[in-house]
Amino acid sequence: MKTSLTVFLLFCVSTCFAQKVAITFDDLPLNGDLPPGVTRVQITRDTLAVLKKRHVPAAYGFINAKKLEGNSDAAEALKLWAAYEPFGNHTYSHMDLNENPAEAFEREVEQNEPALELLAAKGANWHWLRYPYLREGDTIEKRRAVRAYLQAHQYRVAQVTLDWEDYMWNSAYARCVARNDGTSIAWLRSSYLSIAAQYLDLGREMAKLVYGHDINHVLLLHLGAFSSTILPDALDLMQKKGFTLVTLEEAESDPAYDGDPDAGSKYGGTLLEEWMDARKIKYPPVAEKPYKEVGEICK
Ligand SMILES: [Zn+2]
Repeated sequence: MKTSLTVFLLFCVSTCFAQKVAITFDDLPLNGDLPPGVTRVQITRDTLAVLKKRHVPAAYGFINAKKLEGNSDAAEALKLWAAYEPFGNHTYSHMDLNENPAEAFEREVEQNEPALELLAAKGANWHWLRYPYLREGDTIEKRRAVRAYLQAHQYRVAQVTLDWEDYMWNSAYARCVARNDGTSIAWLRSSYLSIAAQYLDLGREMAKLVYGHDINHVLLLHLGAFSSTILPDALDLMQKKGFTLVTLEEAESDPAYDGDPDAGSKYGGTLLEEWMDARKIKYPPVAEKPYKEVGEICK
């Protein structure tokens, strides 16, 4: 009896209390710049290989179809992604809802659909929308109008609760590879992982402040030059911090995703930030991201 309890508890430490997280990628077929001689197909293939090797559950990629126009490399990269991983709508041209009327945004959602339809295998569900810039409307009227449109068109909102602005490192890495600057690349890796570690902790802290307990999380990444290089270390980090990987559907089956902060926001942000702002909860302290250093490295 005692032994079986011990076995159960040991098993439980690794599974019962593990925090679930779904990994998602935005801005397909490419975020940021490419290193010289590297194609979008290559970046996609390398990232898919890491996902497969590490047994990452189906990871949604969010597509802007405008990037396909006249670009066969981009079209091939997307076909490759769609053959292995699910995908959703990120609007046709990455439109900022805060800068545009609700009707224009809705047209952009619609304009993206023929490409998704073409790429989709039978039965694939691409009716998930990720708001570009995580902006859901600067006014409450706009927010409600688009949410109503999405609901009427069978879309679910692909929320985000964990985000460390990983996209900053994509173009920086492309520049440092072009210069063959190993020291700078090493710094890009360490700065990325240090910020990722702090923002994983921050997301869990904010969940506790908003909901009173931790929740299933959704992580926002951007598919770009740095993705396949840093992903194995980022996955190790998440594992070390007690996260287990799940699909977006499973993550958002948590009742935490049923609520809606229902407030216009000039800044947008993750679901947790929206709740923190709507309820005027004080943010925990967190390290400043190295915007300036990442923006200027290898220039
Ligand atoms: Zn985006």
